[in-house]
Amino acid sequence: MRKKIVAGNWKMNMDLAEGLKFTASIDKYFKDKPSGKAQVILCTPFIHLAGASDILKHGKVALGAQNCASEASGAYTGEVSAWMIKSTGAEYVIIGHSERRTYYHEDDKLLSKKTLLAINSGLKVIFCIGESLNERESGKHFLIVKRQLEEGLFTLTENQMDMIVLAYEPVWAIGTGLTASPEQAQEMHKYIRDLVKEKYGNECAKKMPILYGGSCKPSNAAEIFSKPDVDGGLIGGAALKKEDFTAIVEAF
Ligand code: PEP
Repeated sequence: MRKKIVAGNWKMNMDLAEGLKFTASIDKYFKDKPSGKAQVILCTPFIHLAGASDILKHGKVALGAQNCASEASGAYTGEVSAWMIKSTGAEYVIIGHSERRTYYHEDDKLLSKKTLLAINSGLKVIFCIGESLNERESGKHFLIVKRQLEEGLFTLTENQMDMIVLAYEPVWAIGTGLTASPEQAQEMHKYIRDLVKEKYGNECAKKMPILYGGSCKPSNAAEIFSKPDVDGGLIGGAALKKEDFTAIVEAF
């Protein structure tokens, strides 16, 4: 059976005290529950990583960052490397989020470089792909997702693919309140899994977790997660509220 995952992406929210308090409340919530079906991951801003890692170290919740540098180390003022992230105790990093692709012009080649650095530092990568509204409306969504995978990710070896979690996030559904229908999500997730199968074979495709992201909330999570190729969610806005986030995790 494939691993189920619910990852919260806090984006640029919460100061240090707020973030650590929230981390402690999520840690406690899941510690007090019998183990559920899903691995929960908190993807926090860099400033929270070391403190959050300390809080989460004996619990069931894993920790991740939202980005890493495209170089290993050196004179890159303001950057945080994959190895630095790993040294905090974090296990995951999000790479290729549409906000990074759009606002910081991160292209497939750069994302492929970041992914390799992250894997070589021992981090698992939540690799995001997805089309814009324009691209969907003009019928190019499959082509776009194929290009993002082929150029950003398929430079990895089959062994390296063990370190990947995919997240399909249609850009038109992120933070907009619009959600892909469960059928639209399933159709794209199946397409993605078939591309992984074509490139890396059936074993790799069968075990690849593919998360859905885009205005996922307690009211729609169970239906989306019930689709056979949807293995969980990458959650933005609803990850900032304990009741919503925990309800989404419990939608499995
Ligand atoms: C995201 O940013 O990854 C995301 C899915 O955001 P939201 O849930 O707010 O649409």
